This record gives sequence, structure tokens and C-alpha cells, in this order.
Amino acid sequence: MKVKDLVCGMEIESEKAFAQREHEGRTFYFCSQDCVNKFDADPHKYGHPQEHEHDKGHDAHH
Ligand SMILES: [Zn+2]
Repeated sequence: MKVKDLVCGMEIESEKAFAQREHEGRTFYFCSQDCVNKFDADPHKYGHPQEHEHDKGHDAHH
């Protein structure tokens, strides 16, 4: 399955992903340790990219 590494924006095959993380019931895949580190540091930043459009109210579900 093709998935997107939300940290760097690269498309990768989920079976070949360097690592994966679960966040709020969704699975995210990453191409490298560097990308995993960035995701771990701030999962909300990468876990909800579409919600960045309307930042107001984002704090409500923290
Ligand atoms: Zn990456």
C-alpha cells in the first residue's frame, strides 16, 4: 500500500517504511529515523495536517 510520510511529504510503500506510529487511531508511516523523531516530538503537527487550515479550536482536543 502506498502511503505518505507526513513529515517529509514523500510517498513510500507501507511494507518498506522505516517505522510506523499510531496516533488517535490512525497509522502513520515514515521513511527514516529523522522523520520518526520529528513526528514523536509533535504528533499533532503532522497527524492533523488538514486541521492546520483552521487553527482556531485546535487546542480544544488536546
Ligand atoms: Zn520522511
